[in-house]
Amino acid sequence: MLGGEWSGAGPSGTLSRKCANCAGNLTFDAAIGSMVCHMCGKVYDTEGLKEKGSFALKFREKEYADGEQIDQEDLDKVEYVCDSCGAQIVTETKTTATFCAFCGSPTLISRRLTRQFKPDMIIPFSVSKEKALSLYDEFVSSAKRIPKDFRSAKIRERIRGIYMPVWLVTGDCMTDISASGLRKEGSMRFSYDLSRAVTYSLAAVPFSGSDKLSQRMLEAVEPFDINGAVEFNTSMLQGFYAYKYDNLPERMIGRIEKRFNLYGEQVGKNSFDKSYEIGSDSYLTALTGVSVIYCLVPMWFMCYEYEGLYYQFVINGQTGEVCGRLPEKDSLFGKIVKKAGKFTPAIVSIVAALVSGILVGIALKDLYGAEPELYFFYLTVMLFAVFGISFIFVYRFAYRRYIRKLMEKEDQKSPYELDKRPPAEQYFVYNGKIDMEAHDKFGSAMKVGEDRDNRHYKVL
Ligand SMILES: [Zn+2]
Ligand SMILES: [Zn+2]
Repeated sequence: MLGGEWSGAGPSGTLSRKCANCAGNLTFDAAIGSMVCHMCGKVYDTEGLKEKGSFALKFREKEYADGEQIDQEDLDKVEYVCDSCGAQIVTETKTTATFCAFCGSPTLISRRLTRQFKPDMIIPFSVSKEKALSLYDEFVSSAKRIPKDFRSAKIRERIRGIYMPVWLVTGDCMTDISASGLRKEGSMRFSYDLSRAVTYSLAAVPFSGSDKLSQRMLEAVEPFDINGAVEFNTSMLQGFYAYKYDNLPERMIGRIEKRFNLYGEQVGKNSFDKSYEIGSDSYLTALTGVSVIYCLVPMWFMCYEYEGLYYQFVINGQTGEVCGRLPEKDSLFGKIVKKAGKFTPAIVSIVAALVSGILVGIALKDLYGAEPELYFFYLTVMLFAVFGISFIFVYRFAYRRYIRKLMEKEDQKSPYELDKRPPAEQYFVYNGKIDMEAHDKFGSAMKVGEDRDNRHYKVL
């Protein structure tokens, strides 16, 4: 459909264009080189305003007004709302929720659906609760110093199977690449201006439709096998919860573009021959077609609070991939250092001097009790000596070492670091249209100098 009409002058005196679908204003999106309607998510081509995809759902769930008759197919579901964190969970009528899986609060209010519930697809659970618990135990036992609570039955019992709303975004991409490439052949070095355009498609890239599951967490347990997805059916919710989406794909266009752009960069880098040494490269990915599928994905989910912070633990319910964060308990010395800061060696030494002072004081009393001056003299010397030795020892061997360890730890990857997002290959459509247009240009040739130093290259 050809859409978009010129509709008079905008506030800045320029002509603005309207979306053919919803009459919202179209804005040019430089990241993908297209016009985008931020009202309904439709994407148009800049010149002819031809529709070329949409970030929106094919079916937008309708909100039920108060007292409005709800659809026959929604009568078999109930909605639970958590009083404390606002989580909105949908279950089929036979499954009851007794506490909130996200914050642990027992105050849940059940009510009839306030919005239609119509996902396109659902990936069923393959990982059982027993398996999920054993994965949790394994994860916890990999941690060195975690609070005792985390191994307790009370916490383990809080694990819940939840279907999370995910937007699977498919797009035709064109990545424009420009870079400089150096290639060595024998005693010569050739430099090229590499300029290429790669056309390809990425399919079913997941984006979290809920603020209860961060995009980072979702990416850490990806990928899901989309071939395992089936059409949504309420009976599949039995025994599980489903989370209502609270963020629409057309509201996260920026986030989607960002990930596609990063993937474009990977695809672009892979387009270079290994013989090139690449410098000053840039990549720009245009999305020439976008479509979104609303899919529920299975997750085993656990959330726990420790010292005021929430820690999440998530398992991909299809593949068993685990991710999560755990708190680390401080050692006694660590606790003192954190509380007392730089004064730690002095404080530890004063305590050591006082404790040994009392003990030695008793012993010395037997020896010099009759000569009080001598007694106090020896005691004072001893206190200073213990304080001094202890200070040097604590400062050199414990405090400094601990601080160094803390600093090293900051540079190191934490053992509970979340996995990276899967690479572009994971979502690459290999049997789709893949095309590369290269306009590489020869730049210059240089002779490699005897001493192999770049500054001695002779330009021919
Ligand atoms: Zn629109
Ligand atoms: Zn809650």
